[in-house]
Amino acid sequence: MAKRPILICGPCSAESEEQVFETAQKLKELVGLDYYRAGIWKPRTRPDSFEGVGEKGLAWMKQVQDELNIPVITEVANASHVETIAKYNFKAFWIGARTVANPFSVQEIADAAKGGDFKVFVKNPTNPDIDLWCGAIERFKKIGINEIIAVSRGFYPFAETKLRNLPCWEIPIELARRMPDIKIICDPSHIAGNTKYIAEIAQQALNLNMAGLMIESHCNPQQALSDNSQQLTPDEVQNLISSLKMKSSAINDQNIEMELESLRSKIDVLDYQLIDILKQRFAITNEIGKIKKSRNVAVLQIDRWKKVLESRSKYGEDLGLSRELIAALFSEIHKESIREQQMD
Ligand code: PEP
Ligand code: MN
Repeated sequence: MAKRPILICGPCSAESEEQVFETAQKLKELVGLDYYRAGIWKPRTRPDSFEGVGEKGLAWMKQVQDELNIPVITEVANASHVETIAKYNFKAFWIGARTVANPFSVQEIADAAKGGDFKVFVKNPTNPDIDLWCGAIERFKKIGINEIIAVSRGFYPFAETKLRNLPCWEIPIELARRMPDIKIICDPSHIAGNTKYIAEIAQQALNLNMAGLMIESHCNPQQALSDNSQQLTPDEVQNLISSLKMKSSAINDQNIEMELESLRSKIDVLDYQLIDILKQRFAITNEIGKIKKSRNVAVLQIDRWKKVLESRSKYGEDLGLSRELIAALFSEIHKESIREQQMD
């Protein structure tokens, strides 16, 4: 059976005692939560935006934890936040996308969290730098935090896109490869930026075997003081969850397993053939390099390169492959052959 994903829901920001409690109560009733989230100190891009209610919001969250029996979680950005949430009996916090990009802040938070028995959720930084993300996780590992969960919340798009942030799935996939012991969940709300794309992103995350979802939910999203276009009502969260197709990481059907195995073994053969062909290709570019050197001819022949790029991209496209993929592949190959020809 596919396991239900870890579910963390709640408003972008805690705004009032009523909003915090009512949203939590509805979510508990409709979907059941592993954690109830709300931002208390909000890292806003512009100075005059709503910057969170501060410490009084922690008391509202504690009320949810005590009376509704749902563990609560909020964002911390410095040591004093960690000390303050500890006073309100928080057992979990997350590091936001802006803070995670600053190793000084991450280290300060890790030092403050040492010995505090917290579960730590680490969002990816807004720039697609996997080392920063891994580095932050390592800082918490080093101070002895046992439960660290990575949160994939998308990356700054640098251009107009339908999504607020690009999922760049290859980055959490690489994180999973490098750190197989770290669970990864997805925050589709901050990727989507708009309620209409959340289901699509959440399903893609589950298809990639992510372990859970962090979803922003507000009992009255239009009135929300932050991120009002991406917050779902608790009813909408319930619809979303029931529409998701859960995936199991293990394949339990023997026939499917055998079929996949047979297809994978074909891929294995083709991959090694690709590498053999690359080896032959580089042997030829080395020959060319020697001739260029002996005749004092420039390594880079731009017209030839333009023809190679264009003809290969067109050939791939005619076969139904993506032009961008072929162009990217040949750019890498060309870069490497230029590099080799430069060497003595
Ligand atoms: C949030 O979860 O409300 C938040 C500010 O997220 P991020 O750090 O991913 O922007
Ligand atoms: Mn938000």
